[in-house]
Amino acid sequence: MVDDNPIQLSLLRHLFQRHGHLTIEARNGAEALIVLATEFPDVVVSDCVMPLLDGYQFCRLVKDDRATRHLPVLLLTAQGAGLARFWAKTCGADRFLVKGRDLDHVVEVAAALAAQSDKPRAAHAVPKLAQDNFGVEAIQHRLASALEQRLLETALRDSIARLYTAEHDTARLIQGFVEILQELVLPGALMVNYLGEDGVWCRGVHGSSVSEEDRLDLEKALQEQSCFHLSAGCQWHPASDDDERRRSLRDPTLRIYQATTPGYPVLGALGFITERRSADEFERLFEIAAEELGRLLSLEDSRLRLYHQAIRDPLTGLFNRKHILDMLAMELDQCGRFKQGLAIMLVDLDHFKAVNDRYGHPVGDQVLSVMAQRMSFGLRKVDQLGRIGGEEFLIYCPQTDMEGARAMAERLREDVILDSVPGLPAGDRVTLSIGLASWNGPEDSIEQLMSRSDKALYLAKAQGRNRVVG
Ligand code: GH3
Ligand code: MG
Ligand code: MG
Repeated sequence: MVDDNPIQLSLLRHLFQRHGHLTIEARNGAEALIVLATEFPDVVVSDCVMPLLDGYQFCRLVKDDRATRHLPVLLLTAQGAGLARFWAKTCGADRFLVKGRDLDHVVEVAAALAAQSDKPRAAHAVPKLAQDNFGVEAIQHRLASALEQRLLETALRDSIARLYTAEHDTARLIQGFVEILQELVLPGALMVNYLGEDGVWCRGVHGSSVSEEDRLDLEKALQEQSCFHLSAGCQWHPASDDDERRRSLRDPTLRIYQATTPGYPVLGALGFITERRSADEFERLFEIAAEELGRLLSLEDSRLRLYHQAIRDPLTGLFNRKHILDMLAMELDQCGRFKQGLAIMLVDLDHFKAVNDRYGHPVGDQVLSVMAQRMSFGLRKVDQLGRIGGEEFLIYCPQTDMEGARAMAERLREDVILDSVPGLPAGDRVTLSIGLASWNGPEDSIEQLMSRSDKALYLAKAQGRNRVVG
């Protein structure tokens, strides 16, 4: 129990002793730290405002020291608002109770904290302060370095978080992340792997003293511990090679951290080879970096999911109307600039209403998605396909004239009726009517282009369907 007010202290003493607990007392944070050098309590209950070292600073020092980090701290705050409450929340305390109001529960809450704590009792490390003298100066020095460490951690979190507002491309995000961290491991090597849109990716940076063999070791360790199987090798980038970095690594060590975010599957990991000295010194920073990497990757994953939802039609997986038209507009812009041609095809399934009427809407849905798949198989990589209405599709073909488009459309029309359609009787086929139009240059608008293909499609329907007009 830590409190500068003797009355408050004796009140606490009575409360705890009445429940059969043993108590140790200190009159301020500094005294409490001295006590912690030799005693190992199960929980600390501390006042906030005290001379010499207040409750928040005391709590920071306790949580900053590996030997005492697991010791639960319960702060007793005064009723009132403002900064005191803010500090109480950010100093790392495990619980807060408001003096006066909540004091009835203090024993119960402290006992619960002690029960939850997983502090390693047997192998108790010696708190840092036990090695120093216990004077005011030593405590101030410890406090200053704890605050500096906290500032460093905050700056690291902040610079990683800032990446996310600046970059909207996963590869560049990871590059930025690696650049922020690389100074901590050089002349060693740092490597990040992550689950991207199309498989597992990996990026690394290394100093010249790290051999290819070391890098392969790191890749192997990272793969084993993160369970991600790299399709291709890691993209390694040598770090700028100033003289200092030419020296070889003394006592190198290899460490791996998983990038986890609560409530999210693991999306990445980071690993490094560096001197043991740096690895120990920066351990907390690497833990934070791994945490921030997890957050970055989960945000990126959500962003990409949202983006896909926004541009895709859920039934067929094709681009939706808005996106295919946006893409077409951009493509026309390019065509204008490079004086290239472009053709579009408006495709409509024939008598599709009859499929629904005869076999039901769910079968109709299935047929739609099979037809969408078949159409996309028949296209070149540069051609784009989207669903612009119920059973209506738009395809645009860059650098294609009317003749080329006609040949492609005919092939498409013939290909989709080769095989029977799952869900329909074996002999049944769903045929396509296609209206073509080609772009006439910058004076031709997207609306005019669409309108010409629409008229051609209308003609294809009027002339008996299952045909190409344009
Ligand atoms: P036409 O040869 O003249 O194009 O005849 P059609 O029956 O294909 O054309 P119509 O425009 O009369 O009917 C289109 C039908 O497509 C009506 C609608 O129920 C169906 N449809 C539109 N969207 C969907 C969908 O998402 N799922 C299903 N199952 N049917 C759809
Ligand atoms: Mg139709
Ligand atoms: Mg239609």
